[in-house]
Amino acid sequence: MDRMIRCITNDGGIMTAAVDSTYLVAAAQQIHGTSPVATAALGRLLSASSLMGSMLKKDGATVTLKVNGGGPLGTVTAIADANGNCRGFVEHPEITLPLRQDGKLDVGGAVGHNGLLGVIRDYGEGQPYIGQVELQSGEIAEDLTYYYGVSEQIPTICALGVLVDKTDASHVLAGGMLIQVLPGASEEEITRLEQNAASLPPVTTMLAQGLTIEEMCQKALKGFEMEILDEFQVHYACPCSRERVQRAFLTLPKDELLSLPDETTGLAEAKCQYCGRTYTFTKEELELLAKKYKNFSFTC
Ligand SMILES: [Zn+2]
Repeated sequence: MDRMIRCITNDGGIMTAAVDSTYLVAAAQQIHGTSPVATAALGRLLSASSLMGSMLKKDGATVTLKVNGGGPLGTVTAIADANGNCRGFVEHPEITLPLRQDGKLDVGGAVGHNGLLGVIRDYGEGQPYIGQVELQSGEIAEDLTYYYGVSEQIPTICALGVLVDKTDASHVLAGGMLIQVLPGASEEEITRLEQNAASLPPVTTMLAQGLTIEEMCQKALKGFEMEILDEFQVHYACPCSRERVQRAFLTLPKDELLSLPDETTGLAEAKCQYCGRTYTFTKEELELLAKKYKNFSFTC
């Protein structure tokens, strides 16, 4: 079971959220069969989405993160709800790259850095809020830090880490932290935070040392009095359903919908790109669904 906490300093100047996302990243790896470098890229984006989702403060709201830097992985996508539950996929999950000279997975090289990071917050009412920035390194944490500074004017430190066994991608350790300076923070507090951040070990190092997410926040906020605002259990979760697939079918032209079933079996299959679940429809079911087009024209 993965956990997330959100903490705030006693005077309300700095907010920190930390997540141990090991199980949800392992679940994503199993669902998509991602290579080590694809696991690291998707795992970082999932961890970030989970942290950002927990800040939405509205049931039913979602945050979508999309990264495409022109690298061999293609587009990497993650979506999280307001409870930090998330799902995602990577366009080319099988891609492998040589390790960097320092022995680390080349996430920046696999994602690429000639492209955009997009952030879409959908509160379920009105137009979604859409922001995007040019990728800085494709390493994701650095790109999100840049996004917050440029697009939202919130000084933020984003740290994300996924430790993957280089030969067996199913062995992972993953987590992330988001530290934000709120409007009430003093210069002195900001300086102290910067000093803490400079000596903060990588997230995966802290997790590998057995630190809890509470201890990670205490390290980031060393010298501050802090309190834990809330705690979530977070999962890899996909809300897909037969009804949602039917609604998606209804966005297709009628001819296309009716041509979906396989000629031999008479069945049409739709596979969810987030969780891999397959939904099967018979020719008759699709014909029944196609009749809804008529109803739509009456109600419009
Ligand atoms: Zn699904």
